[in-house]
Amino acid sequence: MSRLPIMAGNWKMNLNHVEAVGLVQKLAWTLADQHYDPTKCEAVVIPPFTDLRTVQTLIDGDKLPLKHGAQDLSQNDNGAFTGDISADMLVKLDCSYVVIGHSERREYHHESDELINAKAVKALSKGLVPIICVGEGLEVRRQGTHVEHTVAQVKGALAGISGEDVAGLVIAYEPIWAIGTGEVATPEDAQEVCGAIRAAVRDLYGDSVADQVRIQYGGSVKAANVGAIMAKPDVDGCLVGGASLKPEEFAAIIRFYD
Ligand code: PEP
Repeated sequence: MSRLPIMAGNWKMNLNHVEAVGLVQKLAWTLADQHYDPTKCEAVVIPPFTDLRTVQTLIDGDKLPLKHGAQDLSQNDNGAFTGDISADMLVKLDCSYVVIGHSERREYHHESDELINAKAVKALSKGLVPIICVGEGLEVRRQGTHVEHTVAQVKGALAGISGEDVAGLVIAYEPIWAIGTGEVATPEDAQEVCGAIRAAVRDLYGDSVADQVRIQYGGSVKAANVGAIMAKPDVDGCLVGGASLKPEEFAAIIRFYD
């Protein structure tokens, strides 16, 4: 079963809408120069909420071969939730994807597996594709229970979600100790956990769903290491932080297939 690779650039809390224009344009020019083929790898940018409108306008206006998504959403539809952003708001901005349960939200905003599950359910109900983040911290890795820990997060996030929906979503395995540290899990580390995630999905939903769900690796991915990571059979793409702010570097990651 062949799955379309997906590279998603999570800008985190960086750039303003003017800088966003520069980054998206430079990324698009670089990809065009290098004859990027969107049928070989899907390219997604994930700006802060405040840049989404600008990015939407650029992508739509210039028919750029990029998709865009948001870094979070509310599990609620609307109402008195100051500071939150709803799924409908993201849909109105043509978002295709939404990152849910990034380790920084789990840590700084105390997001639980239950909340992440509620957000995933909400995203799916509105036609947004969740990129559900899971992964262990250094302590868990040292104890050697990283596979069980991560699979439990996956099961928590997917609770009550249908096989049809799971087949279309994205799970990002991000060992927290490798995020923004320059420390990269080896391709074998990535495969160990991504393979275990797919096996867990197979147990829960069967072969067809497990063969369709896309699983990303994230953690200090760069042009120099993306090829070895993507060579692993259960890695279908990467969630990229720092390197996605550098247009040439992110373009090279997207074009890993050459
Ligand atoms: C991330 O933000 O999810 C991430 C993987 O960051 P970095 O690529 O900078 O490690």
